[in-house]
Amino acid sequence: MSLPEHAPSNFIRQIIDADLASGKHSQVVTRFPPEPNGYLHIGHAKSICLNFGLAVDYQGACNLRFDDTNPEKEDLDYVQSIQRDVQWLGFQWAGEVRYASGYFQQIHDFAVELIEKGLAYVDSLNAEQIREYRGTLTEPGRHSPYRDRPVAENLDLFARMKAGGFAEGEHVLRAKIDMASPNINMRDPIIYRVRHQHHHQTGDAWCIYPMYDFTHPISDAIEGITHSLCTLEFEDHRPLYDWVLDNISIACHPRQYEFARLNLNYTVTSKRKLKQLVDEKHVTGWDDPRMPTIAGFRRRGYTPQSIRRFCESIGVSRADSTVDVAMLEHAIREDLDENAPRAMCVLRPLKVTIENWPAGKVEVLQVPAHPKREDLGVREVPFTREIYIDAEDFSEDPPKGWKRLYPEGHIRLRGGYVMQCTAMEKDAAGQVIALTARYDEKTLGVNPEGYKANGVIHWVSADQSVPCEVRLYDRLFSVENPDGDKSRDFLEFINPESLQVMSAARVEPSVAAYPAESRFQFEREGYFAIDPSSTKGKLVLNRTVTLRDSWGKEQGKGGK
Ligand code: ATP
Ligand code: MG
Repeated sequence: MSLPEHAPSNFIRQIIDADLASGKHSQVVTRFPPEPNGYLHIGHAKSICLNFGLAVDYQGACNLRFDDTNPEKEDLDYVQSIQRDVQWLGFQWAGEVRYASGYFQQIHDFAVELIEKGLAYVDSLNAEQIREYRGTLTEPGRHSPYRDRPVAENLDLFARMKAGGFAEGEHVLRAKIDMASPNINMRDPIIYRVRHQHHHQTGDAWCIYPMYDFTHPISDAIEGITHSLCTLEFEDHRPLYDWVLDNISIACHPRQYEFARLNLNYTVTSKRKLKQLVDEKHVTGWDDPRMPTIAGFRRRGYTPQSIRRFCESIGVSRADSTVDVAMLEHAIREDLDENAPRAMCVLRPLKVTIENWPAGKVEVLQVPAHPKREDLGVREVPFTREIYIDAEDFSEDPPKGWKRLYPEGHIRLRGGYVMQCTAMEKDAAGQVIALTARYDEKTLGVNPEGYKANGVIHWVSADQSVPCEVRLYDRLFSVENPDGDKSRDFLEFINPESLQVMSAARVEPSVAAYPAESRFQFEREGYFAIDPSSTKGKLVLNRTVTLRDSWGKEQGKGGK
């Protein structure tokens, strides 16, 4: 099955089409609002493709705005990685990067306006009491004894909060809405709290920080956002979003629309949990190729195009669902099958000496870089007296139907000659450690006469190949829903075999000439990318994905 070429329509596009047709808006302005408290993951890619994709398609604008109201969890490294990842995906934000913290003064002034209107008050209950007074889903909340403080007292206390006169938690500013509302978000939500924290953008200018639910609508309105898109868990926050904008003096009132978040099986997409994996060293970092982060996928060899195509293919709706990770793998296979040059890499080298090939003679074979893409040219593959084949391509005692090499058997070396195995050498334990063979000089590019080769295997020259470390990755979690069992920690489901290091691998020399992040199909082994940690002396390759595509085939059969 092929993924769609163009973003299909969805309910958000229909809303935008209607808004443009009615003249409500003449331009579409969206935003992507990450909290800089971790690296972006594949779920964020969905939101990025949606927000930036709409701006591109409707010739509007999409802002990148950091929702940076939690200084203790935020970091400049995250701010930078997020910009890098958005650009790598192929998008560019309108104008400068924006920060909610850039609006702290205006947000503060709107809070003062609410106090003056009698719509906000300083509460002096502690966090536990506030929780207790809030009520439950079945019981209304109760009024705080501080709810009816006079405006002047509220203004004074809020000013002293801002001036640093109070400890964290001593007072908070709350919106005065409705403690009996069936929507708990409307029961006098906290809109400001004291945090004696240094901020990565504003330094020590502030010791009070606005809450997300207060910051977000104001930031959207300041930027003239037309369609504020967020995930479904914010649906219950929408009345508060509207309440804030209805009660402050700002003309613009963006509309919030919610869509279903992306969930992938075998994957966790919670920044808190991803951070735990990094902090506790279950992975090597945020960009570990097993991580479902954009940086991880990039390092693993995914292309930006494949991630964008995947995001298009899953669509945008309001129905929660879990997407099969095989669908993402399908997207990268489809891309690399078409675009990645082919090469040969032997993961478990077994030496073969070709006894009728002169020592020291090198024949440079010209092999197409891609079977269907002449534009990718040819590569030079040196053939020599000693070569390596994969140990798994030889069987002393071949099972029925064996399509590879065995004693006395003939095999075609991919792009080269047919050879026959004539002898094997074993170690003391009886393990085959080397082979001897004879090649048939009349078989380069033509079928042998009078006999047949038993199959085609990949190989590299022993002394003209390049040693490399090949990292084979499997799913990081061994169960479909690592988050699913609330009585068990997701860490219990980490797949102990998610990384296998092949440290003695050898790759044909053409590969070593490519820069970091270049991608290849290694014949019969899968798709691979050069790890950025590679140096002249040490080439490291990551397996992006195996060759086999279960998802595409199953879809073709019409099954699930
Ligand atoms: P997490 O729950 O992993 O911490 P978050 O929602 O708190 O994620 P933000 O940085 O606030 O992370 O997210 C930025 C934007 O990306 C938000 O608009 C959010 O709705 C969206 N987003 C986050 N996770 C997903 C997801 N799994 N699918 C789609 N959109 C997502
Ligand atoms: Mg968030």
